Amino acid sequence: MKKNYNPYDEMLSCVDNAAEKLGLKYDDYVALRYPERMLSVSLPVKMDDGTLKVFSGYRIQHSSTRGPCKGGIRFHPDVNLDEVKALSAWMTWKCAVVNIPYGGAKGGIAVDPSKLSEGELERLTRRYTAAILPILGPDRDIPAPDVNTNPKIMGWIMDTFSVFKGYPAPEVVTGKPIEIGGSLGRGEATGRGVSIVLDAIAFRKELPLQKAKIAIQGFGNVGGATARSLYSKGYNIVAISDVSCTLYNEDGLNIKALSEYASEKKTIKGYTEKGVTEISKEDFFKLDIDVLILAALENQVTAENANDIKASIIVEGANGPTTTEADEILNKKGVVIVPDILSNAGGVIVSYFEWVQNLQSIFWDEHEIFSLLKKILLKAFDDVYKLSEDKDVTLRTAAYMVAINRVVKATKLRGVFP
Ligand code: NAD
Repeated sequence: MKKNYNPYDEMLSCVDNAAEKLGLKYDDYVALRYPERMLSVSLPVKMDDGTLKVFSGYRIQHSSTRGPCKGGIRFHPDVNLDEVKALSAWMTWKCAVVNIPYGGAKGGIAVDPSKLSEGELERLTRRYTAAILPILGPDRDIPAPDVNTNPKIMGWIMDTFSVFKGYPAPEVVTGKPIEIGGSLGRGEATGRGVSIVLDAIAFRKELPLQKAKIAIQGFGNVGGATARSLYSKGYNIVAISDVSCTLYNEDGLNIKALSEYASEKKTIKGYTEKGVTEISKEDFFKLDIDVLILAALENQVTAENANDIKASIIVEGANGPTTTEADEILNKKGVVIVPDILSNAGGVIVSYFEWVQNLQSIFWDEHEIFSLLKKILLKAFDDVYKLSEDKDVTLRTAAYMVAINRVVKATKLRGVFP
């Protein structure tokens, strides 16, 4: 029977483990085991058929110790308080590990957006924005896209906030369309980051990526951009899955053609090319591959399927895709896992660039954005890799150690009010 994993508990076990390795006293970090502020909202929306439906939404600010809270907004039927709490804390650790001046937040609405019309989706987004408006702001809390949200939705959030304030405030949200203050490169930033991190770890582990077989779970914003970035480097992606199915081609999938198909059909199901077959979700994890990229949702690799995995490197594009139990199994097997808070930080790094550009009313070109993204991400990767070697700990523990150390130092410098 499938176990019910609580993502917040999974996150806390990583925090406690890293705090112990850092030799922290409980008092040094106990406040960081709790979110600073949690807002739960009920959202009545007029549906197209004239009925009124009430949705549940959340915005959780885990920490503002190192700067304004930052984190995405998720629209998914499984969104719940514990999930959003965990996601908000991961944002704190992510911003700290790559050393950008933000705290962590996350938001979400329990909804399947594919069942809403465009008008219903817009009314729900605007109502949610109005409901969480008292705690939003460019110097307080800056949302961004996450699962099932996109630039258009960010544009509605920016507009709703601006209408309430009475002036345009593009800096209140990132991941907006370029025409209203979005940044070049933001759409692909998380996937680009995953691809940069994969190159870095493969180099350290002497895995020649040109000869490697790669599988990617998830083909949305993160999985799709990761696949395109890896494909442009000539790497061989043999399997891709999304919520509808898993496609496998031992000679390598044509990612350009698959991307065009998925962008039109909103699914990879039904895609055909020479040599492609559809396999089950269980068989996806049993594939004979060298690299597995997890870019769908949390709790995908569990104690039930971790032993099946044959890849020697896993890169976590998604947040929390590996449970603590699965992590232990994989570590024992010698699988190297580049943890989410490091490997998917490309998105928040370019979100940070977007916010800085908005605050200064200037625009950077794509070259500036991608070279600074690479510099920041590789510096973080090196910090984490070095610490993992020095202390003989996993990359996950090392990443948490780097992050927690920075947040605890900031907490001590600020002191505890009153
Ligand atoms: P998305 O909605 O664009 O894509 C999600 C993808 O996962 C879709 O292809 C969907 O079909 C697939 N999927 C869902 N359930 C699945 C399942 N059970 N098996 C296989 N595939 C499944 O979302 P996204 O923005 O790409 O986010 C994916 C993950 O990356 C999430 O964990 C998110 O928190 C994280 N993340 C996103 C960003 C960002 O910039 N968007 C940044 C950092 C981390």
